[in-house]
Amino acid sequence: MTGKVSDLQTVYPFGGGATSGDPRAKDKTIVGGKGANLAEMADIGLPVPPGFTITTEECVRYLNEGGEFPAELRRAVGEAVGHIERSVGKRFGDANDPLLVSVRSGARVSMPGMMDTVLNLGLNDETVEGLAKTSGDARFAWDSYRRFIQMYSDVVLGLDHGLFEEALEIAKEDKGYYADTEMEAEDWQALVAEYRRIAEGELGRPFPQTVTEQLWGAIAAVFDSWDSDRAKVYRRLNDIPAGWGTAVNVQAMVFGNMGDTSATGVAFTRDPATGERAYYGEWLVNAQGEDVVAGIRTPQYLTRTARDRAGAKPLSMEEAMPDAYGELARVFDLLEGHYRDMQDIEFTVERGKLWMLQTRTGKRTAKAALKMAVDMAGEGLIDEKTAILRIDPMALDQLLHPTLDPEAPRDVLTTGLPASPGAASGRIVLDADTAETWAGRGEKVILVRVETSPEDIHGMHAAQGILTARGGMTSHAAVVARGMGRCCVSGASAVSIDLKARTLRIAGRDLAEGDVLTLDGSTGQVMAGEVATIEPELAGDFGTLMEWADRHRRMGVRTNAETPVDCRMAVSFGAEGIGLCRTEHMFFDASRISAVRQMILAEDEAGRRKALALLLPEQRADFAEIFCTMAGRPCTIRLLDPPLHEFLPQGDAEFEELAEATGFGADHLKRRAAELHEFNPMLGHRGCRLGITYPEIYEMQARAIFEAACDVAADGEAPVPEVMIPLVSSKRELELMRALVDRTAEAVFTERSARIDYLVGTMIELPRAALMAGEIAEEATFFSFGTNDLTQTTLGVSRDDAGRFLGAYVDKGVFARDPFVSIDIDGVGELVEIAVERGRGTRSDIKLGICGEHGGDPASIAFCEKVGLDYVSASPYRVPIARLAAAQAALRAGAGDA
Ligand code: ADP
Ligand code: MG
Ligand code: MG
Repeated sequence: MTGKVSDLQTVYPFGGGATSGDPRAKDKTIVGGKGANLAEMADIGLPVPPGFTITTEECVRYLNEGGEFPAELRRAVGEAVGHIERSVGKRFGDANDPLLVSVRSGARVSMPGMMDTVLNLGLNDETVEGLAKTSGDARFAWDSYRRFIQMYSDVVLGLDHGLFEEALEIAKEDKGYYADTEMEAEDWQALVAEYRRIAEGELGRPFPQTVTEQLWGAIAAVFDSWDSDRAKVYRRLNDIPAGWGTAVNVQAMVFGNMGDTSATGVAFTRDPATGERAYYGEWLVNAQGEDVVAGIRTPQYLTRTARDRAGAKPLSMEEAMPDAYGELARVFDLLEGHYRDMQDIEFTVERGKLWMLQTRTGKRTAKAALKMAVDMAGEGLIDEKTAILRIDPMALDQLLHPTLDPEAPRDVLTTGLPASPGAASGRIVLDADTAETWAGRGEKVILVRVETSPEDIHGMHAAQGILTARGGMTSHAAVVARGMGRCCVSGASAVSIDLKARTLRIAGRDLAEGDVLTLDGSTGQVMAGEVATIEPELAGDFGTLMEWADRHRRMGVRTNAETPVDCRMAVSFGAEGIGLCRTEHMFFDASRISAVRQMILAEDEAGRRKALALLLPEQRADFAEIFCTMAGRPCTIRLLDPPLHEFLPQGDAEFEELAEATGFGADHLKRRAAELHEFNPMLGHRGCRLGITYPEIYEMQARAIFEAACDVAADGEAPVPEVMIPLVSSKRELELMRALVDRTAEAVFTERSARIDYLVGTMIELPRAALMAGEIAEEATFFSFGTNDLTQTTLGVSRDDAGRFLGAYVDKGVFARDPFVSIDIDGVGELVEIAVERGRGTRSDIKLGICGEHGGDPASIAFCEKVGLDYVSASPYRVPIARLAAAQAALRAGAGDA
């Protein structure tokens, strides 16, 4: 019954009493997610139509070997078809009582709508008659056959599906029908003849009548779909390796289109948008699978409560088919208990009997993920650690962005389904390519479509939000938008689009491409113009999960911030200190840029000191405000880092302005500016090199820090400044700068008759600094890894210029990921490890942190945990992400040790 090639099976049967002790039969990497879960459902006794799965390994082999099927595979598939035949009691290709199958893709992870499925395979001019007889329903038989020809022609033969749709429209028009449901048996039969003519005309040969040819054609199409353009785009967006391949599931058909006691549907065991513990789903009477998702007919609600809430007329399944619904509800509970997570389910009811066609862990919004994790821990379904590990840290990003201000006025045009939460404003675009182009030039866009299809993926990704006129909560648009974290309003039927004129009408209001629209994915509201937003907060389940995360993490989490607003926000997000305060940001402020420029353009030390004296009170006030906001939490303040010419005037007007302020002539100033020009400023006169050449600059900054600290300590909690010297590569540099800082501190303490604790340390951002860390640690009480510059200097890649080639480098596999987003563990990571080891060798209690962009990237945070850093520092909005990622890293490290 099972096919063996050498010692590894290529085909695994499921259902119909087939069980396998082979762990590969339920291994997602071998049989794909769909296959593994079908086998699992069958094993726990759920009603699953029997079938078999061809392994992903066979797909990879087929694609590598130029589309050939080995004889062993043909034999194994033949035997597995026999398994289905025996279980169902029908034979494939039998003219009297034919077995029909579906051929379904199923990769290791679900790729919604990315690959193609063929239903009703096994129908031909003879078997259709048999099906009509055995079912006693000729209309059903011919409808199934025309669906098969349509799908097979599209998916396997690559014919334009528009041709078939057009023929159907004409047939309906001729008869004066409005809906497909009005078509009679003879109408479908006539249409089948027309379909076959179309197929033959396009192909130059008849539509395949041999059922085994149909089967192998479909298997090949599923394998080939792994390398289709849309699958490739999806893989790239989701970091799915090309080498995984897809499995193929061949399964006995069950029919939801056998009249009014039959139905098909999709459901979630909890609400995937809100996380609420309530069954959530959509179904259609007398329909086949694709009908629900494709948005051809508007689906009905599954439960009575959902229908009441929406005020919808058509009966819920709970009301219309109470027995099948009761059975389904029992299955929901069983599956959730079994998988201990929310399930996304496909089912079909054939003449009153429930069949399960798919289950998988359901995609959900970040909000729902948090609620489900916290609820399930409360229900005892999972423990606290599992709850923490279950949330994708990056998904929190969805919740850390502004939402629409409930007080702001809204010009509501219409309300659709709240398919994916969040708020978005942007300009209307009517197709995916336009979305991508406009977004590429920095515009915020809202993609508006009748409904979306897998071809629209790139546009959905580029858009801030998606609005569709058709389709329910489980439509393509809704599922994909939730997965991407894009806000989406679906099924807004008051939207009508005129693609030719590039205009649209929403409930009587005329709009055009380019007009601004706002979507509220949490309520389904569609509004004209832009609506004001408010800042998010960590309340409810989010707050609870963050508390749990804090209990399990080892590393501290700080923030990179320099304005009181950012500091306050970061603290509200749980930041435990500042990991990087960039003092130069304060220099750009309009009120002081003139003094900064006087300082830079001064001819000598006296001139510089004069200008610095103007800056001192300003810097002191800045630091005092930050220290107050941070209320005793540690603050790492980096002394001036960028090359001075970054602050110079741009253009004649600014030079004239400066000339007026300083009394120097504009020409003189321009000459000084030209003298400061550098060929490679990133490697030029910057960082501690400024402090070494112009000690008075760092001295002023140190004075501002200590005076502010003393002031704040006098009437509140004493701050703990950590003075950080940038771009150090040798011990001597730090020795000089540290002496300067210590001297300044002592002077201030004497003047104020006060004393506060402080640290002096350095950034490790040059490869030489990492290598010399042992010596440098003699002068430093802390290191902070400046991994942005460390990446630039280690790779010899300028971040600002990398745009031209980085894409190609990632595509061609030179870099697995953008090294400025996720730390290059092999190269930059090794330097970090060396510095940690040598630094600790000299000073065992040296404080170690990271302040590059990587401090907010979960994969990099896991690396920081592994090398034993004390804290990570991230931008304010990334602080919660870092807290969760740090907890997960600690939990995983702990699990690894055990
Ligand atoms: P997708 O991954 O796009 O959901 P599926 O393979 O799951 O593709 O199938 C598409 C639709 O066809 C689903 O609604 C599914 O439930 C339905 N379907 C698949 N196989 C069968 C079958 N054997 N009998 C009835 N319906 C099926
Ligand atoms: Mg499916
Ligand atoms: Mg730097």
